[in-house]
Amino acid sequence: MSALTTCPYCGVGCGVKVSVAEQPENGFSSLTGDDSHPANFGRLCVKGSNLKDTLVHEDRLLTPRVDGQDVSWQEATDYIAERIQRVVEQHGPDAFAFYLSGQILTEDYYVANKLAKGFIGTANVDTNSRLCMASAVVGYKRAFGSDTVPCNYEDLEKCDLLIMVGSNAAWTHPILFQRIAAAKAKRPKMKVVVIDPRKTATCDIADLHLAIRPGADAAIFNFLLAESERRFVINGEYIKQHTNGFDATLASAQRSAPNAKTVSVHCGVSEEDLERLATWWATTDKTVSFYSQGVNQSSSGVDKCNAIINCHLATGRIGQEGMGPFSITGQPNAMGGREVGGLANQLAAHMDFATPNAIELVQRFWQAPNMAQENGLKAIDMFQAVEQGKIKVLWIMSTNPMVSLPDTEQVRRALEKCELVIVSDCKQSTDTTAYADVLLPALPWSEKDGTVTNSERRISRQRGLLPARGEAKADWWAICQVAGAMGYQSAFSYRSVHDIFREHAALSGFENHGKRDFDISLFSNISEQAYQDLLPIQWPVTKESPNGTARMFTNGRFFTADRKANFIPIDVKEPQIAPDEDWPFVLNTGRVRDQWHTMTRTGDAAILSRHIDQPYVEIHPQDAAALSIADHQLVRLTSLYGEAVLRAKLSDQVLPKNVFVPIHWTRQFASQSVVSSLIPQIVDALSGQPESKHAVVNLQPVENIRYGYLVSTALEIVEGFEYWCRVPTDFGERLEFAYQDELCMAELNLVIEAASPGGEWLEYENPINQHVRRVYFVDGVPKAVLLTQATPNLPVSNWLEEQVLQCEALTANERLALLVGRASGAVDKGAIVCSCFQVGEKQILQAIESGQDSVAKLGEALQCGTNCGSCIPEIKQLLPNIVEVVS
Ligand code: SF4
Repeated sequence: MSALTTCPYCGVGCGVKVSVAEQPENGFSSLTGDDSHPANFGRLCVKGSNLKDTLVHEDRLLTPRVDGQDVSWQEATDYIAERIQRVVEQHGPDAFAFYLSGQILTEDYYVANKLAKGFIGTANVDTNSRLCMASAVVGYKRAFGSDTVPCNYEDLEKCDLLIMVGSNAAWTHPILFQRIAAAKAKRPKMKVVVIDPRKTATCDIADLHLAIRPGADAAIFNFLLAESERRFVINGEYIKQHTNGFDATLASAQRSAPNAKTVSVHCGVSEEDLERLATWWATTDKTVSFYSQGVNQSSSGVDKCNAIINCHLATGRIGQEGMGPFSITGQPNAMGGREVGGLANQLAAHMDFATPNAIELVQRFWQAPNMAQENGLKAIDMFQAVEQGKIKVLWIMSTNPMVSLPDTEQVRRALEKCELVIVSDCKQSTDTTAYADVLLPALPWSEKDGTVTNSERRISRQRGLLPARGEAKADWWAICQVAGAMGYQSAFSYRSVHDIFREHAALSGFENHGKRDFDISLFSNISEQAYQDLLPIQWPVTKESPNGTARMFTNGRFFTADRKANFIPIDVKEPQIAPDEDWPFVLNTGRVRDQWHTMTRTGDAAILSRHIDQPYVEIHPQDAAALSIADHQLVRLTSLYGEAVLRAKLSDQVLPKNVFVPIHWTRQFASQSVVSSLIPQIVDALSGQPESKHAVVNLQPVENIRYGYLVSTALEIVEGFEYWCRVPTDFGERLEFAYQDELCMAELNLVIEAASPGGEWLEYENPINQHVRRVYFVDGVPKAVLLTQATPNLPVSNWLEEQVLQCEALTANERLALLVGRASGAVDKGAIVCSCFQVGEKQILQAIESGQDSVAKLGEALQCGTNCGSCIPEIKQLLPNIVEVVS
């Protein structure tokens, strides 16, 4: 029987249709996109379509643990309750904190927020969503008086001009990007502008790419505001009726962007391109500005958001089809967290501590004995308070701050110092669980039940379809157990997520009367069955709008005291630290196409490691030449805060003197790959969001080393590796490494021999390239292949991994082939470009050479690009290269 649920990865919030296997513990027998879901209409990207492979069977945390000992839930939750109570009695409520996640469900968030803010009495409830969209929240609130996303996904298809700022949606929000690409293909007159220092896959559909200097976004939008006036497209009537503060804002924009020449110099783009943008802006009513982490993760992220919003208010391009400022969230339930108050500067149900009468209103609704009275600590401040000993009990839920927060060395100090670190997770070995005193086994996607809200305010059910494994329990349940043990049974006596959802809905409507944007009061009395069957719907959902609300501010009324929107004058600010002689490179960070966050789930799926299998640093070829760095060579990145060792990827898609590093790899997967360890804890003063897209670093090639890989049934990291990376493969794992000291190779040999005693080594040294290949056999069965060489391009092969890890005895010829490294007839696909159909770069290049000279023809021949479409930009990049060679 099939069932519908929601993808747990990005903020697009795609619907997923699954069939549970006959034996439910075997997972799903099928998984496809949900045709009826308005976010994706049946399509899934490669991460979504491989959800079956990421159901968290490996390394699953199955029982509660206190100080390394398995305990019962009763013991664990009694222990936590007693420790929280003791600390609160001795040091006050602010000695406790929750650090939550955009991965948890709205119902989990609601209960955590209620316990902390209403019963323990602290607003120290923050979340990893702080790292993703906190600036967008404050930007909306400053302008609209509420945290309201005005637009929807259809607006992205209906607009005539789409300005994508600081977003590589092609990789980060693939299905939404495919919708945009399809709309543009249907209406080629629709213009797409990408504003991003990097030339990303998103530029594939761009009519104009402005590769601005990092951080220069606000200047572009101040320029557009000033140009709106110069080109007579200011909507005076709208401004008069519906806004405040226009004159001062325009004056400020005109000061910082007096003409195209000044802006061109400031932003590092040509005057012609700026004029083109301004002309399109001035002549296109239906315009959406689409922005994401590239705008938000900045020390002036809120200002950048308001610079964007100002332009839409000034032209009245908001609240109508195909128009508006659209912040897209990174996580599946960042929006749900915002709705319940899951940020330290929110109270609940889109009310703040500063909202008149809100504290008293929420207290009355919750019947809460200990209401927090003011904002709590935002993520960075929270971890600093932990290190300072002010926060003594920290409960981390479904997130990995040892990887994701900036300056991870500070996070490590904080966690080591903290008296009690509780971590709720479904994995037992993460960079963060290593510091937990108490581990609570959580439910992963497919087992947990509740709701999530996507980037267009659409609430969808995420359904618990598989039985919970071991002792794993829902986060809301664990919180309620602790609350009960603290004496708050009656306020936390929920029997199910349905009970929690109803209460959450009731609070949203409580004494609301249209004063607050977030209102789903129609669900206050939703039946259990109706909740189970709930179809995706966009809030607000009230008696007046029972089918939800596609678009906000259609009547020009906002949620400020006078119902008018606010213009905010924006002074253009530089990132807080600039490169200098010691730290000459600007470091940018972001996501890759096939991984999610810190790989706790996507790292389990070999297929998702085929596109990009190792952490890397993207370097402009000019800089690489100056530093004598070769492609794939190891490079040491240093900053004042830490160090990373990564493979070089030479690319003119980054600007000279700029480098890019993905955020995903952790200490579980690679030796020194955590990019956050290089980033300072600089934040936007208003939003508290870290400037994670701008740090300064130095680069040095790692020299005089040998590179190698090991495919073995016994993988072990040995002392002396300069670098290592575990790469998931179809048959197990491959270890890639680099070393200087031959001693570590001797030790590696011993480890292999100890795992399978009684074997013999065969060795072959290629006299031409000095590759040394050693194969270890036990009774004719290969147990390990070890290759070392002086150059960084390792000849890895799926065939070889299969030979070793399937552990079957080989014939003499097969043994020889293994030693030489290639079976006759084995196909080398090259790096995988199309993950859906496992089509490699070499296959595509061969097909192009044989005449398949378009994406469509390649799709027909190889299937590449015909499923989720995420690889189409990369396929296109291969096309002109070979055409040049052929001609
Ligand atoms: S775009 Fe991909 S990752 Fe994002 S929700 Fe859809 S299927 Fe999941």
